[in-house]
Amino acid sequence: MLTIYRRHLQSCQQTSVTYRRCKCPIHVRGTLNRQKIRRQSLDLINWEKAQEKVRQWEAQGYIDRESPPNSPINSVKFDEPEYAKEQRWSASGN
Ligand SMILES: [Zn+2]
Repeated sequence: MLTIYRRHLQSCQQTSVTYRRCKCPIHVRGTLNRQKIRRQSLDLINWEKAQEKVRQWEAQGYIDRESPPNSPINSVKFDEPEYAKEQRWSASGN
């Protein structure tokens, strides 16, 4: 079962993970087909749309953005810590 929850931005006054009326990004985590789904952003701020999306994932049995097993493309995309981004910037020579 997949669970959606809201991660509030620092500028947001709300703290409830189920608060529906602010514009902070909604994340998902849980299990699907006995596979653990790690926390990731849905790129949605609308609670109803987020629910719709995970319901669809549950119905089809997989999540849309999941990359194939041998593809590392998305492996660093989600919840990349700030320090990792900075390291990448400084490593690129800019
Ligand atoms: Zn919020």
